Amino acid sequence: MKYYDKLIFEISRPGRVGYSLPKSELTIDNSQFTIPANLLRETPAELPEVSELDVVRHYTNVSNKNFGVETGFYPLGSCTMKYNPKINEEIAHHPAFSGLHPLQNEESVQGALAIYYHTARALSELTGLADFTLTPFAGAHGELTGLMVMRQYHLLRGDTKRTRVIVPDSAHGTNPASAAVCGLEIVEVKSTANGTVDTNDLKGLLDDTIAGIMMTNPNTLGIYETQVVEIARLVHEAGGLLYYDGANLNPMLGASRPGDMGFDIMHINLHKTFSTPHGGGGPGSGPVGVAAHLVDCLPNPRVVLDENSKFRIQNSSSACGRVAAFMGNFGVVMKAYTYILSLGKDIKHVGPIATLNANYVKESLRDTYYLPVDTVCKHEFVFDGLADKSTGVTTLDIAKRLLDYGYHAPTIYFPLLFHQSIMIEPTETESKETLDDFIDIMHRVAEEALSDPDMVKSAPHTTPVRRLDETTAAKNPLLKYRDLN
Ligand SMILES: *Cc1c(COP(=O)(O)O)cnc(C)c1O
Repeated sequence: MKYYDKLIFEISRPGRVGYSLPKSELTIDNSQFTIPANLLRETPAELPEVSELDVVRHYTNVSNKNFGVETGFYPLGSCTMKYNPKINEEIAHHPAFSGLHPLQNEESVQGALAIYYHTARALSELTGLADFTLTPFAGAHGELTGLMVMRQYHLLRGDTKRTRVIVPDSAHGTNPASAAVCGLEIVEVKSTANGTVDTNDLKGLLDDTIAGIMMTNPNTLGIYETQVVEIARLVHEAGGLLYYDGANLNPMLGASRPGDMGFDIMHINLHKTFSTPHGGGGPGSGPVGVAAHLVDCLPNPRVVLDENSKFRIQNSSSACGRVAAFMGNFGVVMKAYTYILSLGKDIKHVGPIATLNANYVKESLRDTYYLPVDTVCKHEFVFDGLADKSTGVTTLDIAKRLLDYGYHAPTIYFPLLFHQSIMIEPTETESKETLDDFIDIMHRVAEEALSDPDMVKSAPHTTPVRRLDETTAAKNPLLKYRDLN
């Protein structure tokens, strides 16, 4: 093992320090600052004793083991791993905002409330919906909030029978999960052979117990639901509402608006479409937008502009409740607002270029990978493993082999509609050269699957760890040095 592959505890030497200050020559009476005995630890903390250079190398080497958008191409489908411009961080870290306290009074946080308010206005403009709450902390949290709005709308009208929600079989796993957490019963609507919602199946499901339908458009296969206007008419006629899962709004930016398609409620993942780094589970933001007839059902608190041009934090008794202690992940809102303003009118190119990039990769690889739904895709698409099934090389093997070439794996085994799903989303921020190199590597892996299948099946060969037991790693992670020994 290389010296710097060792854990920092293993290179620790008693008495070694990074920095030492000269002994103080002042005598200070600090008895009033002594920590009460019951709060003191009984044994000293076990900390590594290392030099400053050891510490710097430790963190640098650990960070090199990580992989992110800033390391290389990250084509993870349904995740929109686009580049997050540094200006967003710069603005979000400005002490005038990062130093605010959530309990400050309205008067002293007018600037922050203005940003909250104007971000909501910008999202309304981009989606065709009347108003937004920015308080939910993630996409799934936005889904739950949106469903609470849906339920509240029916309850306020005394329509108490509507306890079931329709979810397509191709939906993201969070959709049925959020519906269940909201106490709604899930009814599955089938997809047609071309991957879109089967309107005939839908017609048979609609009655006065249906609260609404949750849809993703383009759906999880990256395919546009061309029947969406007809679906909206059918669901509305039956008294239901339409929920739009806008986690991946990327292909829609500048091209199409959920509000215009007939959707009543939606969430957006600011940490996907509106550029916030989102590895490792956060921080996120899942604003929920609603059509005009649902604004009163949005959760408390809301930010409004009063007649004296002052921003106010308002609570309403018709709201569906409260979903966050304060105003949400404000830093993420600031990054999204910076992103929207810095792109300006150019934001209309995001959707078309993301779509062009996805189709370019799809068309370049369809000779070697099996394309189960052959149509123009939006921002992402799905292969069902290699075209040549004789090698026994699976989607997992391909994903692992890509790591050897310095690429993050695409999303695999999702959506569940196919056995060997490989879901690829290149995003609009990648150059043609990067895409060409990825296409080249994907072809090379397909060739290796033929010429040396065992080598592909035992990949990765160059990463710090090989194939992990992913279930055990997730359910019973060993996070402490002691546990590893
Ligand atoms: C990412 C995603 C979600 C969930 O978002 P989180 O922020 O991870 O909770 C929901 N739906 C779709 C389609 C997504 O891609």
